[in-house]
Amino acid sequence: MPSDLLARVMDAAVFAAQKHQYQRRAGYDKLPYVNHLLKVAEALIRIGGERDEALLLAAILHDVLEDTDATHEELARRFGREVADIVLELTDDMSLPYMERKWLQVEKAHLLSQKARKVRLVDKATNIRDIFTYPLDWPLEKKEAYLENSIQVAAHIRGGNPRLDAWFDEAVEWARQRLREWRGAGKNEPK
Ligand code: ZN
Repeated sequence: MPSDLLARVMDAAVFAAQKHQYQRRAGYDKLPYVNHLLKVAEALIRIGGERDEALLLAAILHDVLEDTDATHEELARRFGREVADIVLELTDDMSLPYMERKWLQVEKAHLLSQKARKVRLVDKATNIRDIFTYPLDWPLEKKEAYLENSIQVAAHIRGGNPRLDAWFDEAVEWARQRLREWRGAGKNEPK
């Protein structure tokens, strides 16, 4: 990775870490929020081979408008308008209830730009891996609903990078296997 790109990615990582510093991932026991952001950017680089600066910065910053006091103008000034616009595309209207937000992600998926699609696909794959790995205080039905919703979103946005598509599909297959195991064991939660 060119050193100027690395410097920009690290700048965004520090910015996101500070903005999200008092947040923990909902439902997970004290898991820092920034873990999620780093995983999404890391998967785009390692799995997808992506090196586009705006894409990688937007990946790290993709939840900063939704979950912190950061503004679109602030992002545009510091990281450029393209990054700010991609993050805005990926920002849910948090005044809406959870289920409606997830449904709108499916309805509006086809409107996303190519770069926003890659971030969203990897966001979903990363979340699926986390939801079915960590102890998470969601009922099995909510985990399954997240999985099914993600599959619907992915159907609209895949095709931009075959390696990322395959990585998403692997996450789905693995999660389905976990679901079968949990159901087979008659349990609602992983051991
Ligand atoms: Zn996310």
